[in-house]
Amino acid sequence: MKSRKLLMIPGPIEFESEVMLSMAVPTPSHVNPDFISVFSNSLKLLKAVCQSESGQAFIVAGTGTLAMDMAAANLIETGDKALVISTGYFGLRFAEILKRYGADVDILEAQVGDIVPMDLIEEQLKSKKYKLLTFTHVDTSTAVLNNAKSIGALGKKHNVLTVLDGVCSVAGEEIKQEAWGIDVVVTASQKAVGVPPGLALLVASQNAMKTFEQRKNPVANYYGDWANWLPIMKAYENKQASYFGTPPVNLIMALEKSLQLIVN
Ligand SMILES: *Cc1c(COP(=O)(O)O)cnc(C)c1O
Repeated sequence: MKSRKLLMIPGPIEFESEVMLSMAVPTPSHVNPDFISVFSNSLKLLKAVCQSESGQAFIVAGTGTLAMDMAAANLIETGDKALVISTGYFGLRFAEILKRYGADVDILEAQVGDIVPMDLIEEQLKSKKYKLLTFTHVDTSTAVLNNAKSIGALGKKHNVLTVLDGVCSVAGEEIKQEAWGIDVVVTASQKAVGVPPGLALLVASQNAMKTFEQRKNPVANYYGDWANWLPIMKAYENKQASYFGTPPVNLIMALEKSLQLIVN
């Protein structure tokens, strides 16, 4: 690997050899008992990395944008008010996604290279009854780090679901999802999680799952609908075979290896 060029972007990153080797195997069936146990373990490890013992983890073929799309599709119904705290490019993307599902979106935009001050966020939350807010934990373009603990606390205080875009931060920055009261953490495989591109990763609080269960209308996204994925995740957690869409088997083998390296 001597002549290989070093890749230095936020993601895809340089992957550990152990991670790459763990997926360099003939692809087993997605209902192979050994693979079921790899999937089960990966779901547990993902929750451990987000420090969310009681959360519901989802591992789905896709990218970080799909994880954002799933959070919006499953939690938003037409007319719901959503607040986007934007520190750059991906904040504005979240606003677009939320609008697709009929949300009435307000954006609080930071000065380039800065965060939105906490008192401005609180003022905005007092001004209207929002259902959900989103923020980018680490902004990929400016490296700005939002205070997830404080935003989580504000969400709890004002009874607003909090969605953290952690595509650039999960496994790089500490996240105490449960202790900080963050309802949804979305991420992807190819950044600090350390696995080649192709996985949308999400951990939802029980509070978020309850909001989903109380929907009045079906989710307007077939592939991303938690009603389709939840039984699959539960089955894998319980070491049972199940199928909705074929999981990216080799990538999930790599995910288990990388998450093991991260938590150990
Ligand atoms: C990379 C990134 C995304 C988009 O992820 P994809 O896997 O490219 O879809 C979203 N949010 C943040 C903060 C990112 O860094």
